[in-house]
Amino acid sequence: MQRSIVAVFLAICAAAGSLYAQQRTRNVILITLDGARTQEIFGGLDQEIFASTDKNFQKTGTYKRFWAETPKNRREKLMPFFWKTLLVSQGSIAGNRELRSSVQTTNQLFFSYPGYSEMLTGEAHDDVIKSNSHPQNPYPSVLDFLQKKLKLNKDQVADFSSWDAFERISTNNPGSFLINAGFMPYESSDREIAALSRAQSATLPAWNGARFDYYTFRFALSHMRQHHPRVIHIGFDETDDWAHEKNYERVLQTLNMTDRFLKEIWDLVQNDPAYKGKTAIIITTDHGRGKTANDWHDHGADVAEAQNIWMAFFSPGVKLRGEWKEAQTIYLNQVPATLCRYLNLDYSEQNPKAGKPIEQLFAE
Ligand SMILES: [Zn+2]
Repeated sequence: MQRSIVAVFLAICAAAGSLYAQQRTRNVILITLDGARTQEIFGGLDQEIFASTDKNFQKTGTYKRFWAETPKNRREKLMPFFWKTLLVSQGSIAGNRELRSSVQTTNQLFFSYPGYSEMLTGEAHDDVIKSNSHPQNPYPSVLDFLQKKLKLNKDQVADFSSWDAFERISTNNPGSFLINAGFMPYESSDREIAALSRAQSATLPAWNGARFDYYTFRFALSHMRQHHPRVIHIGFDETDDWAHEKNYERVLQTLNMTDRFLKEIWDLVQNDPAYKGKTAIIITTDHGRGKTANDWHDHGADVAEAQNIWMAFFSPGVKLRGEWKEAQTIYLNQVPATLCRYLNLDYSEQNPKAGKPIEQLFAE
């Protein structure tokens, strides 16, 4: 009798504890690394790809810096903070097919606008959104939903992205929240950030339509410090553009640089009372790419394996750590409902056809 009372008491405590952990999540951060392949995320430097771009690749500083014998050691050299700190003590990652975990897009186009639209609205629309130059997204995003639901002002919801198309992708209602994408200046009272915004206009960009990720990172971080947005998307781009150029060294260097960005974002989240202990983060990508030396740089409906992506999760109250194993496939269209679930909101109110919250994260 007594033992069963104790058991019931413990069960109530556990339930209350987890409810408390979920209720105290006040902010959500979505970070994207455009077209970052599962191969580098889970296995680090890919020798076969590197060799296809440079016969003397083993002589490069990049090779010496990031090469190691095992995939585990290679990825830890490439993204040390992500693999050795974040995923050890703070969260988990799905999508390593070697461990029978798979993450896929539900859109069948495997390029950016359809991918981000699926990720932000919760539903693929392959019949409507079939070009990166598609005009304003006709469908409301999770950013739109959270702004309404949480009654947030223009600065409390934000999208900072390197690619200018986010002005069109992230909302069906332009002007309702802050979007700083492409080469838009970022107004700031911080003199260093203001100087950086001027430098952005003076720097010749590498690509039409996308600025260097460093600007995006610095503006986003500054905005978080000053305005404490409760909902923010930070969209990095260089992993995709360097790959299209078949510049594998830059792809690796970009992943390493992004790892340092992640550390600074995490440090801010840990040290700022507005974020500490009440912020959930999802890090993912919009599409995969080819897996061979012939097509690793490319993606799209005709590129085999470009539907395979990865997704990482960090939040209070979720105990999963490290890599998912033997797990049911999850999908890109589940991102909005999952972000809302962290905040105890129900995204199906906006879109009943959107992917459901990722249940593995919330199972007891
Ligand atoms: Zn691309």
